[in-house]
Amino acid sequence: MIENLPKTYNPKGFEDRLYEFWKEKEYFKANVDKGKKPYTIMMPPPNVTGNLHMGHALNNTIQDILIRWKRMEGYEALWLPGTDHASISTEAKVVEKIRSEGKTKEKLGRENFIQEAWDWTRKYGGNINNQLEKIGVSCDWSRERFTLDNSLSNAVEEVFIRLYEKGLIYRGDRIINWCPNCKTAISDAEVDHEETVGHIWHIKYPIKDEEEYIVIATTRPETMLGDLAIAVHPEDDRYKGLVGKTAILPLINREIPIISDEYVEMDFGSGAVKITPSHDPNDFEVGERHNLGQCIIMSEDGTINKNGGKYSGLDRYEARKRIVEDLKNEGYLAKIKEHDNSIGHCERCKTVVEPLISKQWFVKMEPLAKPALDAYNEGKLNFIPDRFGKVYAHWLEEIKDWCISRQLWWGHRLPVYYCEDCEEIMVSKKKPIKCNKCNSTNIYQDPDTLDTWFSSALWPFSTLGWPEETEDLQYFFPTDVLVTGYDIIFFWVVRMVFSSLEQTGEVPFKDVFLTGLVRDAEGRKMSKSLGNGIDPLDVIEEYGADALRFTLVTGNTPGNDMRFHMERVEANRNFANKLWNATRFVLMNTDEKVAMEKVDKEFLEEEDKWILSRVNKVIEEITANLNRYEIGIAAQKIHDFTWDEYCDWYIEMVKPRLYGDNVESKRTAEKVLLHVLENILKLLHPFMPFITEEIWRHLPSREGALIISQWPISNEEMENVEAEKSMAFIMEAIKGIRNARQEMNIAPSKKATLIFITRDEEIKDIINYGKRYFINLASGEDIQIQEDKSNLGEDNISVVLDRCEVFIPLKNLIDFEKEIERLEKEKEKLAGELKRVRGKLSNEGFIQKAPEQVVEKEKAKEKKYQDMMNKVLERLESLKSDN
Ligand SMILES: [Zn+2]
Ligand SMILES: [Zn+2]
Repeated sequence: MIENLPKTYNPKGFEDRLYEFWKEKEYFKANVDKGKKPYTIMMPPPNVTGNLHMGHALNNTIQDILIRWKRMEGYEALWLPGTDHASISTEAKVVEKIRSEGKTKEKLGRENFIQEAWDWTRKYGGNINNQLEKIGVSCDWSRERFTLDNSLSNAVEEVFIRLYEKGLIYRGDRIINWCPNCKTAISDAEVDHEETVGHIWHIKYPIKDEEEYIVIATTRPETMLGDLAIAVHPEDDRYKGLVGKTAILPLINREIPIISDEYVEMDFGSGAVKITPSHDPNDFEVGERHNLGQCIIMSEDGTINKNGGKYSGLDRYEARKRIVEDLKNEGYLAKIKEHDNSIGHCERCKTVVEPLISKQWFVKMEPLAKPALDAYNEGKLNFIPDRFGKVYAHWLEEIKDWCISRQLWWGHRLPVYYCEDCEEIMVSKKKPIKCNKCNSTNIYQDPDTLDTWFSSALWPFSTLGWPEETEDLQYFFPTDVLVTGYDIIFFWVVRMVFSSLEQTGEVPFKDVFLTGLVRDAEGRKMSKSLGNGIDPLDVIEEYGADALRFTLVTGNTPGNDMRFHMERVEANRNFANKLWNATRFVLMNTDEKVAMEKVDKEFLEEEDKWILSRVNKVIEEITANLNRYEIGIAAQKIHDFTWDEYCDWYIEMVKPRLYGDNVESKRTAEKVLLHVLENILKLLHPFMPFITEEIWRHLPSREGALIISQWPISNEEMENVEAEKSMAFIMEAIKGIRNARQEMNIAPSKKATLIFITRDEEIKDIINYGKRYFINLASGEDIQIQEDKSNLGEDNISVVLDRCEVFIPLKNLIDFEKEIERLEKEKEKLAGELKRVRGKLSNEGFIQKAPEQVVEKEKAKEKKYQDMMNKVLERLESLKSDN
């Protein structure tokens, strides 16, 4: 077996091969199996034309860890993958492509455009899946779904129709967020708010037939073209006499009423506000209450329309400039002040969104939000970490109706038809032959498509065949956990929960595990413009997928952003390398036949009992950690156990037995070595699937693939408190002795007498038992135990331990004169360094001009040299006093 395991760890030599092997053997495939419990995760569908980034890598690594672990625990584990058509983002890319060919959407026509989008999707759609395979995702590709698949589209139409028939979807004039660049409505969740210092303009509106005027304040003066009233608070004494009178809109001389409404804040600005119902959500409501009607002054592209009089045709910002100028010239401008403003930008293209009245389709949220909120409050939905539950609940409490229509072509077209003759609305999957009301056959479909999130909101059940009562749906739904970024709680998590509750009566997943952002080493967001993004595929190319996966899940906690350090990837590659080398050592030193036999308890030695007890404990702890989603802690534990306890201690401890003549002892060591290695591979497999599977294939008699092997179960019988206690003491002693020797600069080849001082019988037994370890691992010879410090020479170093002290006579270990000479030299050198650093630090020019970091560095150096100097002086002192 060993002859097949290459000398060096080279992930490129096996990662792709193993992935193909797993796929070919259909280990990722889940089947309805009533004899087993299902465990289901729905992969958050990446954009079909997207590319893998660190966020995907993190997110999918976590899902893969959970699914591999549960698969090994014996669950029928389904991880369903798929992609999202990502309407707005894909459409933007296709528009760009045809533009580069000199074409436009309109010229191409809807059908041809959609054809282009499909071509684009087919061309780039496979990329992200191939990239996901590189990180080792063990998802069931045979169940891959796409949000525009026929069955998923059918689910979308079904939900739309059901909600419409229940009165939960309606068409209405509402203020929506309009992106003049994307030329579509976007939902609240798609608007990024940015605090900016802008201006507030105070404008005088003359009162009709009077000499007076009223001052209003606005941050968007161009919208005054659409003003239909001025409003004041009913209790505002300043304006009591004016309510009911008429004001004249400057520049266009429209007469508008002065009304009172409680919405107005008396202490904001002048206490009087302009009301522009078509361009502001609050004004819209005031307008409804006072029957002001509508006056739209802006086109879809952000230019002023014909209602804007002489400003029509101007871009909104150009119009603003001209209007402010004209107001000033005509004496209507009272003042301009700076003003902190929260401005909404299109999440996709960063254009400032325009609140605009528009005929759109909405989902009525209040009746849907309530069950989603109840589910959380009743504990049917858990968030990891907990605090995001409050974010979820708060969003639902404040939720507004969801604008679901988009003026785009790529996506699910609304299943809505209109009669051209009587404007009757008909909602159905198929185009009606004639109008329900007037029998006309002039029927056309609504040109809009649905918000992408409308279809992804159905993902947990539409992917399993809903609305059909499929076997898959009955068995795998509801799912167990959703793993996603905290940044899409509103877009997605909330909508999946209420959609699922409404359509299936079930919470779609029990747990929501939220991941943070992967930032660069300095803590900045990875972005194209900063050029600081790290491509997961590059990392895999250089270090292997296992090292990348391990880096992503260690050193961070759920819901918190993490920093990505290349040094950590390297360290984790080194960990894989350490495991590889340890395996080679074990395989080189074990007899295949012996290794296939079971461990015989009778022949266990202390270190065997200890490592068996420890691995048992680690199994128990890691399983508990995973059950609590403490993935990083679990990974760290298996890392530390493998590196420290197994490689650095156990293997070193049993080496003399492997090379010795005692056959039974040798055999036992071989069996235990393999048994523990086998458990390490199992525990590590979910985190580092490739290296563990590759090593597994080389272990004697390990039948079948590791991916489908059984997750280890802890066994109380293996627990051995005594062995753990005594080995802990022995290891502490060895570490202490090694450190002391190192400090005294004693070569490891020089054997030393070790005098243990203790009166504790238990410790005495352990020391007696542990002699061979002290000889092998602490360069000891002649191990003595004394009850007191009599007969100790003067030149000793000592190590303090639990209930015990070890003395190491220095005679014969150190050439005192030579050591003093060496230390004197060291002292001189350090004095020189200290002088140089202090010279720098006392130079005011340096302190003032040098960057803070550089000064800090010098200060740290000073401290380091001083510490070293103190040690040297201390040692000199003790050496001199000993002689
Ligand atoms: Zn936009
Ligand atoms: Zn009709």
